[in-house]
Amino acid sequence: MSFKPANNIQDLQYFGEFGGVNPSISDSSTYTFLSAKTMFDTFEGNADGCYLYSRHSSPSNLYLGEALAAMEGTETANVTASGMGAITAVLMQLCNAGDHIVSSRTIYGGTYAFLKNFTPKFNIKTSFVDITKLEAVEAAITPNTKVIYCEAVSNPLLEIADIKSLSQLTKKHGLQLIVDNTFSPLSISPAVLGADVVIHSLTKFINGSSDTVGGVICGTQEFINNLRNVNNGAAMLFGSTMDSLRAASILKNLRTLHIRMQQHSKNALYLAKKFESDSLKTVYPGLDSHASHELFKTMMNKNYGFGGMLTIDVGSLDKANELMELMQHKNLGYLAVSLGFYKTLFSAPGTSTSSEIPEEEQKEMGLSDGLIRFSIGLDDDIERTYQMIKTCMVELNILEH
Ligand SMILES: *Cc1c(COP(=O)(O)O)cnc(C)c1O
Repeated sequence: MSFKPANNIQDLQYFGEFGGVNPSISDSSTYTFLSAKTMFDTFEGNADGCYLYSRHSSPSNLYLGEALAAMEGTETANVTASGMGAITAVLMQLCNAGDHIVSSRTIYGGTYAFLKNFTPKFNIKTSFVDITKLEAVEAAITPNTKVIYCEAVSNPLLEIADIKSLSQLTKKHGLQLIVDNTFSPLSISPAVLGADVVIHSLTKFINGSSDTVGGVICGTQEFINNLRNVNNGAAMLFGSTMDSLRAASILKNLRTLHIRMQQHSKNALYLAKKFESDSLKTVYPGLDSHASHELFKTMMNKNYGFGGMLTIDVGSLDKANELMELMQHKNLGYLAVSLGFYKTLFSAPGTSTSSEIPEEEQKEMGLSDGLIRFSIGLDDDIERTYQMIKTCMVELNILEH
């Protein structure tokens, strides 16, 4: 039977305090106890269903976490104040001084900077590998390796991780597989394919309205309990906690994610096909020409498509900048980082979201100067959008008439 993540979200039933159809928002940072003994037990982690202090957990955060765990097919989840708040807590929870991480080299710029520049302070070293080459991944594993880290669909090159094979590798070597699924919610379910921990930046498609940052860690009850432990849990002690009001608003946006992802994917596939037939160098996992198109098909849940992200290469940074400025001027979208908005967003990763990666390494991984990353919007008339983009490209001599 195939995995149906949107059904799992829909099947949750919540009632608010007065029979409201949305759960009540818990507008409190701290909680009373009828007996002092229960307070002590709660600190010891032995009082299920009791709330202590909202950095630890709150009813609103638990509702959102439960819905995201249902979406990913994990036992439970912990929401955080941002995607980076999720990523850093997970890595610091799993790794001690002297440990080693094998990471995909094409990952979010902030994650790359954390692994490259920050964790070495604690003698945690990372080897960056081409995640699509399983032999290279295995060859990088050392006796000190604890974790394999990757994105299901990578930022910004849209490489696809073979999660089943990677999970076989991690099991063989006694490691944890951590997958950032920010680019492919609903389409890919990493935990169902064998990942131990699934992370999202909720800031992107899941919230979908570019009005907040947020993150989530989906995993086993045991791992999430460890993260929340008052004595040594990274989520609890780093304090990257989501506010309850925001958790409530993200939960409401999550309810339309399946409809939005279908439209993002439909529009992105349409544009990718058009750009490719215009002879633009186009990368989109839904194109036959994508190196991992077949692999994506074996991993994907039906209905949600290949996602809303695509890249084109227009030859030079100057051309890329001119095109993005013109497209914004024509109101085709915004020259902005981030993704998952109702409008199309575009940016040149080499000088923005991946600028943490040294130029030499950008070249080596195929991140060229003229690359534009698009997060395709929810446009109702994508044919019209294409015609307008084409007009911009013709005006700038990127395309001929
Ligand atoms: C944006 C992003 C992050 C970081 O999330 P924030 O919410 O900005 O902290 C991590 N991974 C990926 C793939 C992202 O796109």
